[in-house]
Amino acid sequence: MKIYVVGIGPGGEGYITPVAREAIEKSDVVVGYTVYVDLIKNLTGDKETKTTAMKQEVERCRMALEECLKGKDVAFVCSGDAGVYGMAGIMCEVAEDYPDVDIEVIPGITAACSGGAVLGAPLIHDFAVISLSDLLTPWEMIEKRISLAAEGDFVICLYNPKSKKRVTHLDRAVELIEKHRAGDTPCGYVKNIGRDGETGVICTLKELSGNDDIDMFTTVFIGNSSTKVINGKLVTPRGYKGV
Ligand code: SAH
Repeated sequence: MKIYVVGIGPGGEGYITPVAREAIEKSDVVVGYTVYVDLIKNLTGDKETKTTAMKQEVERCRMALEECLKGKDVAFVCSGDAGVYGMAGIMCEVAEDYPDVDIEVIPGITAACSGGAVLGAPLIHDFAVISLSDLLTPWEMIEKRISLAAEGDFVICLYNPKSKKRVTHLDRAVELIEKHRAGDTPCGYVKNIGRDGETGVICTLKELSGNDDIDMFTTVFIGNSSTKVINGKLVTPRGYKGV
């Protein structure tokens, strides 16, 4: 009896790695947030599924662990990569109380990689990934990380840029980054990566501010001082000689 914590990638079935697919196929039950279990319903067929709403992460972990204790192999699915703002960490923490349960984390394609590919090659050099969600991290800490990443000239990839309640965080992030980077720095954002309605937009840093198009299904990319737009693609040169 085993729990596979499976990252299913950003969208539909095509983005699931063969290893993740195999873990789902060999599990007796699939547990996850309703939206993600729905995304892979072609794969789960008539397999038993158990879903919970958002923000019930600990309950979802316990649900998977209890299924496992009944002698079942469980695929515990989450979007993108299981270890990037995913469920792998919390599952290991909750499973501390269940030492007999074997846990295997199966990686997936995270939004930074799949979204970066839509825009071109923005993450070729050193980059920082920052979530603007202050549900679990104090906002002061998020501001500090944004400022230091901007000062360090990292390309910055922002997850959870906006939600219905958090509408001003992205504007504040842009304000902090503008202290170290020009307002016309090439940037971009990708909505609904790998899903219906996928859209990639290349814009400038200042155009990210007050942008109503960006929502919680969007990943934002902020170029560093050498990022440029080449034939419609957002590219951060790595510095190969002769190019
Ligand atoms: N574990 C996930 C991240 C979960 S946090 C991963 O590795 O990708 C949720 C945030 O991820 C969203 O607010 C958004 O910024 C980003 N994201 C996840 N899937 C996405 C998708 N299909 N399209 C655009 N952004 C996505």
